[in-house]
Amino acid sequence: MRRGLYIGRFQPYHLGHQAVLQKIVEEVDEIVVGLGSAQASHTSENPFTAGERITMIWPALQGLDVTCYVIPLEDMARNAVWISHVVAMTPNFDVVYSNNPLVVQLFVEAGVEVKRPPMYMREVYSGTSIRRMMLAGDESWKRLVPWSVVSVIEEIKGLERLKNVSMGDQE
Ligand code: ATP
Ligand code: MG
Repeated sequence: MRRGLYIGRFQPYHLGHQAVLQKIVEEVDEIVVGLGSAQASHTSENPFTAGERITMIWPALQGLDVTCYVIPLEDMARNAVWISHVVAMTPNFDVVYSNNPLVVQLFVEAGVEVKRPPMYMREVYSGTSIRRMMLAGDESWKRLVPWSVVSVIEEIKGLERLKNVSMGDQE
């Protein structure tokens, strides 16, 4: 039994993430999705709560046809103890998939096997550019995410929230 850990903030989850997981299922028996910065929400960088992100991601994972766990992972003020925090919160894993330099550094130092999945059309599939499109009123972001992401964002009035939390104080 081989388990892989895939960590991201998923603000929001997009088809680039889904493409990575579709490759990972060929290499492992089970996937642990670590939902990073779980405590964060209602900011321009992290608009959605952990619970909202879980409901966005869950239906997309069912399509992968492999057992997946979604584990919220809060940030820690000390990077040096973050790995122990992750280990304490997740089912045992054998390999970590990440391209985030800090995440890679910390796991390598801890002696964990790390793989860096190739980027899938990064110019198009990026959380930052999707949030930018949402703010600009460009509806084509909807084609860059699974349908469940669109449906949760509509249900929670996510566009309105993102616009409001991205504004400065009004004079
Ligand atoms: P943001 O711009 O908000 O950082 P993001 O698209 O980088 O969003 P994250 O949640 O930060 O999304 O990413 C989780 C993991 O997925 C990271 O390791 C990131 O490098 C990777 N990733 C992001 N976009 C792609 C993509 N298009 N193809 C492959 N991997 C990706
Ligand atoms: Mg990122």
